[in-house]
Amino acid sequence: MWLPFTQMSDYEKDPLIIASGEGVTVTDIHGKTYLDGYSSLWLNVHGHRKKELDEAIQTQLQSIAHSTLLGAANIPSILLAEKLVKLVPERLTRVFYSDSGATSVEIAVKMAYQYWQNKGLEKKTRFVTVSNGYHGDTVGTMSVGSIELYHKVYTSLLFDALVIPFPSVYRHPSGDENIVRDESLQELRLLFEERHEEIAGMVLEPMIQGAGGMNTMPAGYLKGVEKLCNEFNVLLIVDEVATGFGRTGKMFAVEHEGIQPDLMTVAKGLTGGYLPVAATFATEEIYDAFYGEYEEMKTFFHGHSYTGNQLGCAVALANLEIFEKEQLVKQSEEKSTFLKELLVNVKQLPHVGDVRQCGLMCGIEIVKDKHTKESFPLESRVAYRATLEMRKLGLLTRPLGDVIVLMPPLATSNEQLAEMVALMVEGIKAVT
Ligand code: PLP
Repeated sequence: MWLPFTQMSDYEKDPLIIASGEGVTVTDIHGKTYLDGYSSLWLNVHGHRKKELDEAIQTQLQSIAHSTLLGAANIPSILLAEKLVKLVPERLTRVFYSDSGATSVEIAVKMAYQYWQNKGLEKKTRFVTVSNGYHGDTVGTMSVGSIELYHKVYTSLLFDALVIPFPSVYRHPSGDENIVRDESLQELRLLFEERHEEIAGMVLEPMIQGAGGMNTMPAGYLKGVEKLCNEFNVLLIVDEVATGFGRTGKMFAVEHEGIQPDLMTVAKGLTGGYLPVAATFATEEIYDAFYGEYEEMKTFFHGHSYTGNQLGCAVALANLEIFEKEQLVKQSEEKSTFLKELLVNVKQLPHVGDVRQCGLMCGIEIVKDKHTKESFPLESRVAYRATLEMRKLGLLTRPLGDVIVLMPPLATSNEQLAEMVALMVEGIKAVT
């Protein structure tokens, strides 16, 4: 095997093979159990082997596992779409399924592009994105992403997006979130003023950038972006792949600032982290621009083999039922507050430069010098080594450059959160 996002020479030194899972723990083939500190890559919600989710799959299997959605709907996908449009911002009334976070964003980008073509505004072809944004690894999503480490090597393969700097408070000389927000929005305004006639859409992760280093946005930034998009006739595409389904203390991160995007994408937590189902939500206005007689050539020619997979949609429905039954969003908000208190101690560590948190999404940035914010040299791989120590101690997570991620399942108890943070502290101390 060749593992994703993995230097295989690292992996071979001490391979990890997971055999089973239960609640918020997973167990390897040697019987060692770990806390799942990264929600099996940011998607597990209720823990592993959640009875209701297992049963939903078994029940669906008694009807059918999968049939194509190309020109033929199926029952679980219809029921799920009906539920989802009641949960997302009210302007979003149409659901287009796919099978991963990347495909859901790729679809949003293609929809935005074709929307303007179908409306006869052919010059609107470009996309604005925010530095350090991450939307997946396909060529389209890398084009609207901008993490140098992952994307630089492919530069000549990608289409050219217009990148504006992420409003990072930690890295700004003022350290003042109002100043950072206002400066960033002014920069975006100038870009829109100059080029809005050629801009189809703006793509960004709401409230917190995940893979870019768990970077939180200043309050009011997202609202400001929405206003500018509306003012300059630019479609706002919000990527909720990581932040969706309670991860930030709200069902969707856009709710923190009452945002009504034109397109929104979800994946990961949609099935509680069980199966690959994703969705792109669109407004009625966008849907209408694709609607007409076949000869008008407005059709959205896009689809994947497993789009709207019945097993996946059935488990997603069960997932949403648990959200309601267990009042998970409220629980997530309460646990976020508890986690915030725990993280105060982490901030005190001599090599922890910044602790960023939005709900149950956290990033701990390790620096060589807390005062100058100087990083450790690349080759020291300090955050990576810290995560190896954590693994030895019984906590699984992954680094993003110099940032250690903590993104536990929503089902994690306060005791388990405290244990995770304690193990993180031990891991960090072991290498700094
Ligand atoms: N968008 C965001 C914000 C993500 O965090 C991710 C994955 O981490 C993706 C898109 C890509 O999702 P997937 O890995 O399911 O393709």
